[in-house]
Amino acid sequence: MTRKLFVTTALPYANAAFHIGHMMEYIQADIWVRFQRMQRDGVDGEYRPREVHFVGADDTHGTPIMIAAEKEGITPQEFVAKIAAGRAQYLDGFHIAFDNWYSTDSPENVELSQGIYRKLRDNGLIQTKTVDRFFDPVKGMFLADRNIKGECPKCGAKDQYGDNCEVCGAAYQPTDLVNPYSVFTNATPVLKPSEQYFFKLSDPRCFEFLRDWLNTPGRLQPEMVNKVSEWLGEAGEKLADWDISRDAPYFGIPIPDAPGKFFYVWLDAPVGYLASLKNYFGKQGIDYDAFLRDPAAEQIHFIGKDIVSFHLLFWPAMLKFAGHPVIDNLKVNVHGHLTVNNEKMSKSRGTGISPLRYLNLGMNPEWLRYYIAFKLNSKVEDLDFTGEDFVARVNSDLIGKYVNIASRCAGFIAKKFDGKLAGELSHHAHDWIKRALTNAEGHVRADAIALSYENREFGKALREIMEIADVTNQYVDENKPWVLAKDETKLAELHEVCTTALILFRQLTILLSPVLPGVAANVRAFLNDGALTWADTGLEAASSAMLGRTIGAYTHLMTRVDAKMIDELFDAPKPAAAAPAANPVSAAPVSAAPATGAGSDTSIEPLAAEIKIDDFAKIDLRIAKIVNCEHVEGSDKLLRLTLDVGEGRHRNVFSGIKSMYQPADLVGKLTVLVANLAPRKMKFGISEGMVLAASAADEKANPGIYILNPWPGAEPGMRIR
Ligand SMILES: [Zn+2]
Repeated sequence: MTRKLFVTTALPYANAAFHIGHMMEYIQADIWVRFQRMQRDGVDGEYRPREVHFVGADDTHGTPIMIAAEKEGITPQEFVAKIAAGRAQYLDGFHIAFDNWYSTDSPENVELSQGIYRKLRDNGLIQTKTVDRFFDPVKGMFLADRNIKGECPKCGAKDQYGDNCEVCGAAYQPTDLVNPYSVFTNATPVLKPSEQYFFKLSDPRCFEFLRDWLNTPGRLQPEMVNKVSEWLGEAGEKLADWDISRDAPYFGIPIPDAPGKFFYVWLDAPVGYLASLKNYFGKQGIDYDAFLRDPAAEQIHFIGKDIVSFHLLFWPAMLKFAGHPVIDNLKVNVHGHLTVNNEKMSKSRGTGISPLRYLNLGMNPEWLRYYIAFKLNSKVEDLDFTGEDFVARVNSDLIGKYVNIASRCAGFIAKKFDGKLAGELSHHAHDWIKRALTNAEGHVRADAIALSYENREFGKALREIMEIADVTNQYVDENKPWVLAKDETKLAELHEVCTTALILFRQLTILLSPVLPGVAANVRAFLNDGALTWADTGLEAASSAMLGRTIGAYTHLMTRVDAKMIDELFDAPKPAAAAPAANPVSAAPVSAAPATGAGSDTSIEPLAAEIKIDDFAKIDLRIAKIVNCEHVEGSDKLLRLTLDVGEGRHRNVFSGIKSMYQPADLVGKLTVLVANLAPRKMKFGISEGMVLAASAADEKANPGIYILNPWPGAEPGMRIR
């Protein structure tokens, strides 16, 4: 039977560009997919390529995208299209080869989501309940949890979201907040009854199904089985019904027969996997329904540990009770998070590694693929990126052990033997090949490596591959082709040594090709090879395909990582904070754009006349906390800021940033104030200082005005020097 694989990664939310955590997940899935594509399955005594479909999509619906689009004055569809247009540079840049990249805002997803809902409803698993929801009386809309702020009911911290407190970590309902307000209008929300739709996860059928489903061997990692078992409880008593509806206005898919109600984004997001597959199959002329009904079809999700409840409770139950046939062959692989220098990624600070900056610095994407693969195993463990470790691992393994073999031997084949490999090998050479390609127990290493790839033990696979490289280098070191080449009587020996080394180099390339697809393509060109599969590995296949073959010229395959690149990679946030800046109301000099990365080729406003440090010292810049912010009636440019500069009183400052910021977005944030500017009487009142902001020299090309936000740790009143 030919395995038929339908592989997906978590759908990224389409409100921002990819970060390094996305790339880690895609690299993990891409390596697994590329490995599967090299496999052949026996059908009636014949070997056929395994069928693999790898699809992704943007997760587009929900309040955050609706709000972000509104802020930019465009439709949500335009907003997500803009994000989608930026995806390819990351995916292509890191050799991530999805067959299809689609969107949850698509006709297929509407049809599939509504179809699944109807089947759940027919199965008696949808229930309506009337619940009180917060409503913004000014804006005339129901408020999602994240659109309400107030004081934490537990610790009293101000300006906390409606679902949890970022200060003490407490989770609660929006109705528990003290002094709640709408982030849109600052109005006090009112409770309004609203009919909501629930998926009845508490139905005993769901518990019985999930218990059996999750305990099927090979479906989930053991730690996930334990975790989900805890969520289920002894008899499903811990399973609560799931609110799947949201009130208009909402950017989402309408619930059938329920005017003004939309599916909560998490209902239709995983259906997006199927929508992308269906869209892809439509373009390819493959029968979607037949594929899903095929008992050989397997659905494999790669996801992060933060979205486990959606994928291991709601999603399988939805598929099961909507009669989705692939549910019996659904497997979920959960990975940990990527940390950088052992620090958790933070939303405000990022990880310090931007994938685009990595590429723009000219860093090789396959270095990162190798490094991530080397650190990955099948467990739900966090993976740490450390600069020094990255440099050492890549330079030692890829350059020192792997590329080194070809660069030491290929030149002699071209120079001395017209590019032709030896036609036969001695027993001695065959013994070395066997020694490299089999392990201590005499088993062919390629088989063990295949098993490691299949089980997502990538680090284990690469360690075993590097053992082959070690034996090969030992062979080259002992036989010293560079010494043989100086002696005309040793030509036959030289020919054999270089041929043997290149045979092993080709084997290493095949085994590494899921991780290093770009290098593998270059090696295939250099060795005059066609597509390489796992059938090309093993003792006999290794040498028989190569003996007597004429190969092409060796071209340099990969350079070492320069440690300076890592410094530049991590330095990224600093130049970004000092990006070309020239506030119309600010006298601060601008600093030049960084030499690499986006923006380096744009023209900036000329620098102001040089000053001495004493001149700069006259300007007293302070960290200020924006304790309140509101619109100024009658002004289309100004916002009124109430600032705390640690003086024991508040300052009133007007700032011309209304085009860029909603008042609610600024409240609670820190920024930078010119604190010793003489107070200025304006039409709307007295302004006691000036908030710094950046803007482009060419306001037509970039009309944005951007206020500054200090790094965490800065406190109101601190002087900037
Ligand atoms: Zn709290």
